[in-house]
Amino acid sequence: MSSVAKSELYRELPSVDVVLRSPDLVSLIESQGSSAVTDAARTVLARLREEISSGLLDTQSLHLALEGLGKAIESQLRSALRHSLRSVINATGVILHTNLGRAPLAQSALDHIAETATHYTNLEFDIAAGERGKRDIHVDRLFRKLLAEVKATTDLSTIVVNNNAAAVLLALNTLADSGEVIVSRGELVEIGGSFRIPDVMTKSGAILREVGTTNRTRLADYERAINDRTRLLLRVHRSNFEITGFTEQPSVGELVGLGRERGVPLMEDLGSGALVDLHNFGIHGEANVLGSLRAGADVVTYSGDKLLGGPQAGLLSGRSDLISSMRSNSLFRALRVDKLTYASLEPTLLAYVKRDYGAIPVLKMMSLSKGEIGSRAESLRKNVSTAKIRLNVIDGESVIGGGAAPSSVLPTRLLAVTHADLSANELSARLRSSDPPIISRVEEGRVLIDLRTVLPAEDSKIAAALTRI
Ligand SMILES: *Cc1c(COP(=O)(O)O)cnc(C)c1O
Repeated sequence: MSSVAKSELYRELPSVDVVLRSPDLVSLIESQGSSAVTDAARTVLARLREEISSGLLDTQSLHLALEGLGKAIESQLRSALRHSLRSVINATGVILHTNLGRAPLAQSALDHIAETATHYTNLEFDIAAGERGKRDIHVDRLFRKLLAEVKATTDLSTIVVNNNAAAVLLALNTLADSGEVIVSRGELVEIGGSFRIPDVMTKSGAILREVGTTNRTRLADYERAINDRTRLLLRVHRSNFEITGFTEQPSVGELVGLGRERGVPLMEDLGSGALVDLHNFGIHGEANVLGSLRAGADVVTYSGDKLLGGPQAGLLSGRSDLISSMRSNSLFRALRVDKLTYASLEPTLLAYVKRDYGAIPVLKMMSLSKGEIGSRAESLRKNVSTAKIRLNVIDGESVIGGGAAPSSVLPTRLLAVTHADLSANELSARLRSSDPPIISRVEEGRVLIDLRTVLPAEDSKIAAALTRI
């Protein structure tokens, strides 16, 4: 198209002012405000200008576009005002999916957030005394209850920071700044691509003293490495991998024994840190908070939004004298959490105190049997009515994810979906573009849907989305 022809098209574009005065935008301006509508109008007009410049529009298609200008501005406005963070349906079967925000919260947590967040609270106020209080007391009392059965003899307390990475940083900086921390080479892990034990160690000011080899570290290796600069023995949970075959690793109890003998505390970074024994859920050999403290670890660190099933947070539980020195570290002030975290953590912990595990969504999902999931899958299958889609219910496995029990899987039933005209990747993209987006797995040319991680009320939304495709 000649530049003369293009400049004629440009001339046909109305000004923003003219567009805003058009009758079909009156009610939109009334409901959404003129500045948002002006922005949307500018964006749509700029897009048309660009399409003229790149030769995509001729006179006829420009006229068509101008006729639909009101609609285009309205839809631009809708997408500009839509939340970027939104809920999705997790049909992957990965219970703690870090990319999907890990643990969904318990209803009681949500209710308590709603009740406290829109009001003032006693976050740091002692109501009885009428004076300044501490924010950690709101959950410390519940942790004391939950941990009491472990150690009647030792005083244990718990503080909360932003996440487990922050918990490890705070603990290392408090307990071992400028001193040495002994860690097995088999535990120098990287988690989630950005949390690396050696890097966190450097930032904390502690000096890493590696011992043993990748596959074998003996108690004697730790023993030989202890000197008068040693401040801490650190054990790190191998959250996302396993070492099998010719391996050796001292137990927490053996490390505790050595630490006590030489006057060096032991800290365990549990990562996921379950608050219940996962044997009941068919998961074996997974370290948990009570077990580690019972074995004598002086401090444990763990996440709030992994197996605990609460909000993002880092928990530090352990000997009160050590926890109290962490609380006085100025770093604690920088890493502390807000009232929303306390508001959702407290009801989550209360569910543990009441042993109401079914109220915690991740524990509920873990407890679902293959049979229960299978019958939901069967009824979903019957509710999808389209000739193009084939659905089979097959055996499969769900995983915990989020750095827990890397080799433990839960037997499940999967919906295996194929489409007559779409590849599995295209089909999964269609599912992602539905509202709410449905996130599935693709394996061997099929889309796999695991209802273990789907809230029961969402089953019908998946059936509807499949039918629409
Ligand atoms: C997940 C994990 C972390 C990081 O925890 P965040 O809460 O994501 O900061 C650290 N250590 C271990 C062993 C973990 O599994």
